[in-house]
Amino acid sequence: MTKMYCLRHNKKHISESGWKYTKWETETGFVWGWACANVTYPEFTTNQIKEERLTYANDMLQSHRGGELSREFLEAHPKRAKQMLKNNVITKEDVKNSKYVWTKDVPGVTKKVDAEALIK
Ligand SMILES: [Zn+2]
Repeated sequence: MTKMYCLRHNKKHISESGWKYTKWETETGFVWGWACANVTYPEFTTNQIKEERLTYANDMLQSHRGGELSREFLEAHPKRAKQMLKNNVITKEDVKNSKYVWTKDVPGVTKKVDAEALIK
């Protein structure tokens, strides 16, 4: 097998699972090229892009969904959650009863604290 330049891993390597000509997101925009079909490796992204994605995911979260307090929101935005508690926008009981309501719709959210830690 010959080595090919792989966009997924940003280096030349041999792929046992084959190659796919694909559109790939880079720092400077989208490029077309070959990426190995091996999905067990973590996808190559620069730290910058990774961070942007994570920030974006957290920003997508809204505090409530269908009247239910979002646990993801609390855990991704502890400062805002504490402010909401302080201003009686939400209660400790609300925090206790909060649920993961965004899990499927907002992937890649960064959890910063445990919701329980907010009400200790
Ligand atoms: Zn690869």
